[in-house]
Amino acid sequence: MYETKNTHKISALNVTKIRNDFPVLNQEVYGKALIYFDNAATTQKPRVVIDIINKLYSEHNSNVHRGVHYLSEQITKMYESARKKVQDYLNARYNHEIIFTSGATDSINIVAYSFGEAYVKKNDEIIISEMEHHSNIVPWQMMCKRKGAKLKVISINNKGELLLDEYKKIINSRTKLVAIVHVSNSLGTINPVKEIVAIAHKNNIPVLIDGAQAIQHGSIDVQDIDCDFYVFSGHKIYGPTGVGVLYGKERWLQEMPPYQGGGDMIERVRFERTTYDELPFKFEAGTPNYIGVIGVGAALDYLTGIGLDNIKNYEKKLLDYGTAKLTALNELKLYGTAENKTCIFSFLLNNIHPYDVGMLLDKMSIAVRTGHHCTQPLWEHYKIEGSIRASLAFYNTLEEIDSLYEALKKIQKMFK
Ligand code: PLP
Repeated sequence: MYETKNTHKISALNVTKIRNDFPVLNQEVYGKALIYFDNAATTQKPRVVIDIINKLYSEHNSNVHRGVHYLSEQITKMYESARKKVQDYLNARYNHEIIFTSGATDSINIVAYSFGEAYVKKNDEIIISEMEHHSNIVPWQMMCKRKGAKLKVISINNKGELLLDEYKKIINSRTKLVAIVHVSNSLGTINPVKEIVAIAHKNNIPVLIDGAQAIQHGSIDVQDIDCDFYVFSGHKIYGPTGVGVLYGKERWLQEMPPYQGGGDMIERVRFERTTYDELPFKFEAGTPNYIGVIGVGAALDYLTGIGLDNIKNYEKKLLDYGTAKLTALNELKLYGTAENKTCIFSFLLNNIHPYDVGMLLDKMSIAVRTGHHCTQPLWEHYKIEGSIRASLAFYNTLEEIDSLYEALKKIQKMFK
């Protein structure tokens, strides 16, 4: 379906053809072709995802797991087949280790609540890092408050890399869980999650990986990483909004209590006592976002059709080209210069306020994000309030990076 031959000048991935799959990209903003560089906030949707959502509502809509009738059985099959697709994508051992949620935030909150209830006591400790998204900070703070536990934080160096020696020092017999971002949404740093997990496991401590910014950039193998939990959102992986995934090792999910009660998560309800359903349903109370889940399945099919290695290689070219181009600009300061990173460029330009740069880029039809990107504690490390962030995807091009470069030069001139 998708060409993987070397038809594009810089890679095995045919960008022109791919861009035609994304209707949103094919438009003008203020009279110029839209350049969408806000992919870390949300990715655009390929036509196959949009079409399947339309088709599901038009032809197949019915609630899952409940009906004996044709439509319900059909949609239940599609819903469960999406679970299998996610299992394959993550290389999870069991299908029932995949829980559908409303997003990465929801997935982390489920673990923070449920794991907290099962295992965390007064004076226990949870380890996170300085580069976490607020979604991987606040749920743990809330849990610590509830349980009288403490939050410990691994610092970073100025390149935006975790200080693993410090991590080894703060891990101890009171540590109950380590929760770390796989790829930083503000810096692009790819953390050495396998090593982080191995260190924790030596001490019998489980690890949650926040994969919200990793899952869309290449293949993920949860058995190889050996993490205990892995979370992501559908909308960051070219799928619909309002749906996400919590992968958890069977052992933990079996032991942890459900997070929410309601329909679909029960085995038997009596006023005296309720027993819960098996995995994965124990954690899927109420009507799930079944249309969204099937949409995520379609997005995963689309990505694997293009080839995850093709995506990774192409995005590496975007990263190298973009880094060379942006660092050639005088008075542009790049934040996040880790050896191992994805194509996220966080920067400040001269001493122009990021908001002004963002507004001016917008008028030149370039969509970037400005501000703290939900990582306020990270910016405290650099003693700044936030940055301008251009986050790229495999449908972006070298020419678009050239346009960003020219636009930034123009802005510098305007402020001289
Ligand atoms: N973790 C990281 C690293 C993120 O970048 C984000 C969103 O930007 C989240 C978690 C939260 O994702 P969502 O808002 O889709 O739940």
